Amino acid sequence: MSIRIVLVDPNHPGNIGAVARAMKNMGLTELHLVRPKFFPNADATARASGADDVLAAARVHEEFADAIADCGLVVGTSARQRHLPFDLVEPRDCASQIVQAGRSGGAAIVFGSERIGLTNVELARCNLLATIPTDPRYSSLNLAMAVQVFAYEVWLAGRPGAPEIAPRDVPLASAEEMTRLYEHFEQVLEYIDFRDRTGGGHLMARIRRLFNRALLDQNEMNILRGVLTAVQARRRPAKRRSDEVT
Ligand code: SAH
Repeated sequence: MSIRIVLVDPNHPGNIGAVARAMKNMGLTELHLVRPKFFPNADATARASGADDVLAAARVHEEFADAIADCGLVVGTSARQRHLPFDLVEPRDCASQIVQAGRSGGAAIVFGSERIGLTNVELARCNLLATIPTDPRYSSLNLAMAVQVFAYEVWLAGRPGAPEIAPRDVPLASAEEMTRLYEHFEQVLEYIDFRDRTGGGHLMARIRRLFNRALLDQNEMNILRGVLTAVQARRRPAKRRSDEVT
């Protein structure tokens, strides 16, 4: 089972330690840190209590994309209900899906910084957006407490005897493969002179959201890549001819 917790831009080392502890209680061990302000750090170790092994094994990244590259399902978390065409789910609704993806290809649950949370650019790289229901007048939990709630739900959904979603026949496409799909898509749009009518250059962001939401598996990804390659192969001679005319 591979379910990782990703902390983006964590500011307080004490929180990193508390996250490690929250994870270990619930059987999670894979901690990924993106640009931690202070790490390793004595406060983190102190707050981790007996979970310093989780801290010691933590992986540090400069780029968010690297922290999720090999994951099939990426769940972003937010206290705020942003105006994005995302399916906004609660931890309990997505926990079984996280466990299922964790059993075939890997899942990530992503948390933002204490001050600003996840940016829209980071959220756009996620497949799902999850929010812990709270009193709407005070919806922002401490980072480690938010991790605890998700880790607890994932533990409940994954412990022996819990009802299982049938395993996937074909693993999900990884975040890195999705990035390559978008690059390919962009090349083809340019190639066929497709006009962005979204007003403001949002076309690729919309396409990204659409496919992220669809949770493509490896076969579906290969079909789309094949279609894109076929479009490129077909257009090429026509374009050369028109170039010659002008
Ligand atoms: N000021 C930030 C809050 C950051 S709290 C904001 O308004 O977005 C730090 C992180 O904890 C958040 O980025 C999110 O990952 C998680 N978190 C806090 N409260 C949450 C909630 N109610 N639901 C889901 N995640 C939450």
